[in-house]
Amino acid sequence: MSTLNKRAEIIAIGDELTCGHRLDTNSRWISQQLCDLGVTIAFHTTVGDDIDDNLNVLQRAVSRAEIVICTGGLGPTADDLTRQAVSQMAGVPLVFDPETLEHIQSIFGRHGRKMPEQNNVQAYFPEGAKIIPNPEGTAPGFDLSVAAADEQVSRIWALPGVPYEMKEMWNQSVAPAISNFSGTNQVICHHVLHCFGGGESQIESMLPDLMRRDRIPRVGITASSATISLRVTAEADTREDCLIQMQPTLLTIRECLGDLVFGENGQTLQEVVLSQLQQRSLKLSVVDFCFGGSVAYLLDQAEGSDHRLAGSLQMPAEYAEIWLGRASTEGWLAESAERVRDQFESEIGVAVGPIYERSVEAGESSSVFDLVICHERQSALFTFNFGGHSKIRLARSQKQILNQIRLCLKDV
Ligand code: ATP
Ligand code: MG
Repeated sequence: MSTLNKRAEIIAIGDELTCGHRLDTNSRWISQQLCDLGVTIAFHTTVGDDIDDNLNVLQRAVSRAEIVICTGGLGPTADDLTRQAVSQMAGVPLVFDPETLEHIQSIFGRHGRKMPEQNNVQAYFPEGAKIIPNPEGTAPGFDLSVAAADEQVSRIWALPGVPYEMKEMWNQSVAPAISNFSGTNQVICHHVLHCFGGGESQIESMLPDLMRRDRIPRVGITASSATISLRVTAEADTREDCLIQMQPTLLTIRECLGDLVFGENGQTLQEVVLSQLQQRSLKLSVVDFCFGGSVAYLLDQAEGSDHRLAGSLQMPAEYAEIWLGRASTEGWLAESAERVRDQFESEIGVAVGPIYERSVEAGESSSVFDLVICHERQSALFTFNFGGHSKIRLARSQKQILNQIRLCLKDV
């Protein structure tokens, strides 16, 4: 990243955040936006509704970052202290803005209510601040330049805590202002490739030396519930130049990893399976003796499901004998896949069997489950391990099933 880039600090304000009652999602969102604007995010700070702590945090922020973004504390109540803290820190008084008061009164008027006295405070801003309109709510934000150490100027943007108000104001007012202020015309673009079926280090070892810190474009790797994502980041004058810069790297990753790559830019396995079904004009049905119908649920709820899931059944394995009308001996799972496929008049049938113990070596056993996928006269059986930490093994098993369906559909 260019060393000319300005540095930013994000300050999330509110007792509900420091107490852990609410997760600070604003800072995460703002970080992503700043990153796209070519700004380096140096610090995240979270502070409660206390005036001294707020002052402290603000002083430190302007001493170490040129861009300071605050969210929260702009409400009308006594615990909303951002206006006060910023004016005290900058050494300027709070001044009244009549237009803002009219705006707040009109919002109350629209709902047939009279503005409570205490909302008056929302029409006060640190002297010299530029007011940032809030079309969605009563609390406008503001933007104030503060002379910090070494003649350096820091700019503070104060925005409300309510996420949808904050985002609206960001897009309309703050992002363009930061673009101008940061002085960099560079654009940053990301492209993410998602992989399934290999561990993080295994996938890394299959790639040439792409993860070097100084490489252009940069490549980062992250793992989340057995999905490994490779994020390619380019920085250039235009979006088109970024895409050109990323192309060879994306191609190399795809060539080295082959079928391990299932999607890109946030796509899920269920979305990929659904689009494969759509492209081939096929429908799929599932009978699930193991995971409570959750794989079918994922397919049903996914973006663009377009009725590609013809039907699904979920039952305890003990019930299979009654449903099939025969003993659960040899071949029962394959017969279940065919039965569910025909029952819902679909082309593909999927049966997920119960978890059982399979011996691996001398007295050792591991938990596994079987999966059968059938299409026309063919059916294939796969066995997967069901192990690992209880927090991720269900998600991983669901992905194993969806991934296997994806791989089978490739050849259909
Ligand atoms: P505002 O300045 O918009 O009035 P506030 O801090 O005065 O914000 P609160 O009532 O404290 O008002 O917060 C408004 C809502 O926004 C609450 O539901 C709060 O949990 C949520 N919120 C505040 N800060 C954050 C944050 N950093 N991330 C996610 N939600 C937040
Ligand atoms: Mg608050």
